Amino acid sequence: MFNTSPRILLLGKNGQVGWELQRALAPLGELTALDRHGCKGLTGDLADVDGLRRTVRQLKPQVIVNAGAYTGVDRAEEQRELATRINAEAPALLAEEARALNALLIHYSTDYVFNGSGDSPWRESDPVGPLNHYGASKLAGERHIQSSGCRHLIFRTSWVYAARGNSFLSTMARLMCEREALQVIDDQHGAPTGAELIADVTSHALVQTLNDGAKQGLYHLVPAGQTSWHGYAIFIAEWLQRQGTEVQSTQERIAPISTSEWPTPANRPLNSRLTTTKLERAFSLTLPAWQNGVERALVERLGSDTEA
Ligand code: NDP
Repeated sequence: MFNTSPRILLLGKNGQVGWELQRALAPLGELTALDRHGCKGLTGDLADVDGLRRTVRQLKPQVIVNAGAYTGVDRAEEQRELATRINAEAPALLAEEARALNALLIHYSTDYVFNGSGDSPWRESDPVGPLNHYGASKLAGERHIQSSGCRHLIFRTSWVYAARGNSFLSTMARLMCEREALQVIDDQHGAPTGAELIADVTSHALVQTLNDGAKQGLYHLVPAGQTSWHGYAIFIAEWLQRQGTEVQSTQERIAPISTSEWPTPANRPLNSRLTTTKLERAFSLTLPAWQNGVERALVERLGSDTEA
């Protein structure tokens, strides 16, 4: 039984997931949380491999949680080298250092490691085949960690949103009030995943894995259910209207379009469904419906007229 309060190093503390992890990890141990600017002589910049190594060696954490990433999917097609450094080389370095310290490394990956074929939810053991550089760089990060021999948890998630920061949820909620009509992709399927859920599952799994090393490994982490971006947008529009918000793009003005009608620099998978059976069994979890978290984030972000 692991019963001391572990030293935890959190990287990428101000991202959607990083912010929620600051809350969820705080009661578990002695937490040092860094963003890319670092603090007190510590480097948190994932692009600075030497600085990162010095930070880990100085702090000697028992748990490293890496919530930082290069997440600009379209920009990554142009900035391939930087995306690779942050998403593949930094995790490799963290894994190497974690192995030397016998620390547990927790890392996040993405549905974009898959090619999006078919319509069945992907299992952890299914063949990968990223369609864009972001997905390829994240897959390389996973593989470096797995082959390093360090103790690890890798959570693949999808369509992340939070009450804080920018995501599809915040952009849609704003555009629906500003524009009279919108077009939203209806042939990409997945599950919107709250940063809050990711952070809470992380802390739960962290404690269990420190106590039982056999639980380490790769897991899919998304809420229950699935939708398309269009279905997600309609859910937001309906919620806004229920709150009495003046919405310009009402449901009937949100047109479903196909991926081919909205060309982007990076190709995206059509099927981003992930099955979570492995995670739920290993950690005795029941994942809530995606709508629960989206509604909570909307209330937190925009307030609700039931508050008064
Ligand atoms: P965010 O984009 O919200 O946060 C990423 C964080 O990484 C930001 O705080 C960013 O800092 C930081 N970062 C970027 N470059 C560096 C660097 N060189 N050094 C240190 N920090 C850096 O991402 P999420 O919280 O949504 O993502 C968390 C994890 O989930 C990532 O691994 C991501 O790949 C994965 N994921 C995310 C999805 C999504 O839809 N967002 C979908 C599937 C998986 P700054 O703000 O200063 O740029």
